[in-house]
Amino acid sequence: MEPADSTPKLLLHTCCGPCATAVIEQLTPRFEIECFWYNPNIQPEAEYQRRLEGMRVVAEAAALPLIEAEYDEAGWEAAITGLQQEPEGGWRCQVCFKYRLQRTAQHAAEHGFTHFATTLGVSPYKNVKGINTIGEQYAQQLGLSFVAENFRKRNGFQRSVQLSRELHLYRQNYCGCRYSQRD
Ligand code: SF4
Repeated sequence: MEPADSTPKLLLHTCCGPCATAVIEQLTPRFEIECFWYNPNIQPEAEYQRRLEGMRVVAEAAALPLIEAEYDEAGWEAAITGLQQEPEGGWRCQVCFKYRLQRTAQHAAEHGFTHFATTLGVSPYKNVKGINTIGEQYAQQLGLSFVAENFRKRNGFQRSVQLSRELHLYRQNYCGCRYSQRD
């Protein structure tokens, strides 16, 4: 179904194809969505390409545009300098979330979106409240609305597993950076 003219435009930061599946399903009735791929935290590059390919499959299946932003690995490494030894869930991850959501919010503000959101909170390993707080801060700075929902509700994570199977998506076994792979 074509969105009505009054349907708000939402830029959806997608961390990977599997997490994107369930969030797209939840948001599609309410928003005109474009997906935004900005994940310079994913290492090595072969893994980055593998996850991006999965996201392309999801966007195509949902008939949604997918914007592929740059693989700014050096910029991301610079941002987390000094935090390499942090455990997963610690300060390095806060900086990592900020890095990706700031770029997403900037793109949304510059391209006529009224809303943005992220799939980052689908994983049970992530702090949804912390992610939503970061999103709301950038939204406030840039005059946007951030969809601060917990997409794990209504079986969001289980639904992402089910939809990933249906689409034969690769499901990674570490968060993304080489430090999470190490740990
Ligand atoms: S563990 Fe995940 S969220 Fe944390 S810094 Fe690494 S890639 Fe980012």
